[in-house]
Amino acid sequence: MSSRSDDPDNADVIVVGAGLAGLVATYELARAGRRVLVIDQENRNNLGGQAFWSLGGLFMVDTPEQRRLGIKDSYELALQDWLGSAGFDREDDTGGRYPEDRWPRQWAEAYVRFAATEKRDYLHGLGLRITPIVGWAERGGHDATGHGNSVPRFHLTWGTGPEVVRVFAEPVLAAERRGLVTFAFRHRVDEVVIEDGVAVGVRGTALSRTPQDEGLARGRASTRDEVGPFEFRAGAVVVTSGGIGHNHELIRRNWPVERLGQPPATMISGVPAHVDGRMLEISERAGAHIVNRDRMWHYTEGIVNWDPIWPDHAIRIIPGPSSLWFDAVGDRLPAPNFPGFDTNATMKAILASGHDYSWFVLTQSIIEKEFALSGSEQNPDITGKDLKLTVKTRLSKGAAAPVEAFKEHGEDFVVADTLAELVAGMNKIARGPQLDVEHLERQIVARDREVGNAYSKDLQLMAVQNARAYFGDKVSRVAKPHRILDPAHGPLIAVRLNILTRKTLGGIETDLDSQVVRADGSPFPGLYAAGEVAGFGGGGVHGYNALEGTFLGGCIFSGRAAGRALARDLAQGRTQGSA
Ligand SMILES: Cc1cc2nc3c(=O)[nH]c(=O)nc-3n(C[C@H](O)[C@H](O)[C@H](O)COP(=O)(O)OP(=O)(O)OC[C@H]3O[C@@H](n4cnc5c(N)ncnc54)[C@H](O)[C@@H]3O)c2cc1C
Repeated sequence: MSSRSDDPDNADVIVVGAGLAGLVATYELARAGRRVLVIDQENRNNLGGQAFWSLGGLFMVDTPEQRRLGIKDSYELALQDWLGSAGFDREDDTGGRYPEDRWPRQWAEAYVRFAATEKRDYLHGLGLRITPIVGWAERGGHDATGHGNSVPRFHLTWGTGPEVVRVFAEPVLAAERRGLVTFAFRHRVDEVVIEDGVAVGVRGTALSRTPQDEGLARGRASTRDEVGPFEFRAGAVVVTSGGIGHNHELIRRNWPVERLGQPPATMISGVPAHVDGRMLEISERAGAHIVNRDRMWHYTEGIVNWDPIWPDHAIRIIPGPSSLWFDAVGDRLPAPNFPGFDTNATMKAILASGHDYSWFVLTQSIIEKEFALSGSEQNPDITGKDLKLTVKTRLSKGAAAPVEAFKEHGEDFVVADTLAELVAGMNKIARGPQLDVEHLERQIVARDREVGNAYSKDLQLMAVQNARAYFGDKVSRVAKPHRILDPAHGPLIAVRLNILTRKTLGGIETDLDSQVVRADGSPFPGLYAAGEVAGFGGGGVHGYNALEGTFLGGCIFSGRAAGRALARDLAQGRTQGSA
């Protein structure tokens, strides 16, 4: 099959990628009465892309939910945290270096303002609701101006990722029924068509659409069987194709060795196979400027999914602060590398051991209160908006059923009554050195001794006390301090933690309208980019580190910017392809 449409009137705008960023851009354009062609290499079942699988955590600032919990937040505090985390340092062009952080810093200020003002109302107006307990993610553990959230800001969507998708997909599907939006699923874009320096369309390959292809369930890796070429044209092209998280080769090529150490030999995939990064190179070939390629956000608490959906499927443990964290050699990680504190610093500490995995050692009491698993399918209570089940899962005794299932079936878990048995089990699944039980015991006993000490100098225990000062953590996230080796809190549990690939922090450079910027700094006529492929805006709004819950919001903010800018320009007859 070859489909061809070179009538520019067929669509005002082409959107490449039906993930969250693409849906938001399409929603804004359709709202303004514009015709949109949305192209995606996957089938219709995958509408919404990665966002469907997400936990639906949203970074917001100074909300009613925070205020109800006594959390004092403000734009100024959030911006201080954001800039302390981002560490933008590529802003001047001295020495001939291109100022890659010029747009990201502007995006950061605009995005934090959005999170502190319009974001909640915009989503609320679409029907999205959030749960009452605000989470405290990525705490940092440095000084006030360093990396991390000074206060809890992780707002969990009631309905998790599928709900974030729903509130944009429903109006887009309604616009499809009205004839404003057309989808071309199973169409893979291979080229952005540029004529006289203007983006005027895309070319690519139609992929097979057998009943098997069309019926393939969401998230499953699809075939790349080719059927024939296609070409579509429009007044503008918006690239919303996601990041590079399932392309381990590309991750290794861009890995910042000098900052984090050698790339891990073993990585497991926290994103579906369609997150292949191809459109970055395709956009670059068309003349887009890719910046901050070496900035990425992968997690150090990855476990192999015993019930996988996509190839190498990994799940991230979102941990509370109490588990003891050891590197592959068996040395406790130095402060502030506590669970949930500083993702990149922990990555560096783990890789410094010369190995690509690490260990949690904890108790049954800790797993029950502190282990959450990222992913909509791992949280059926909140994803299903089931109030009764949510209260039961989150507040009653015992670990959540998905956590228990991992404990029972997961290949990374060891459960034992004594430390000697635990270490013997850890040594069976270690990819590196055999651990010495006495070495581990010395460190755990020393830490346990501090539990009864009101003046402890153990920074992790101090951090646990600090967390428990927050009502939300005390009731649902942080176990009462106890001795790890106290059998009353057993059995003992060890988890082998792998490096899990996830987010791309750099990408296509864009201005505040999400219009692509060329290497010489000029706007690229007709070409826009949003979401993860654009580093969530500007080519790297996060800088070096994220504050969490910032990615879905980044797709929303940058997708909205692209849609609104194009709607404005089309109304004034100003897009280049239609000029
Ligand atoms: C398990 C999980 C949990 C997460 N939890 C959170 C969270 O709690 N909070 C948060 O903020 N973020 C979270 N995230 C991150 C967030 O979901 C993603 O960063 C975001 O959804 C990316 O959206 P996107 O639209 O940019 O890209 P994607 O969702 O990747 O969509 C891109 C689309 O483009 C298509 N495409 C790519 N290349 C081509 C091509 N050449 N031709 C045609 N189509 C193409 C793909 O098939 C895909 O459908 C999570 C992610 C995962 C996987």
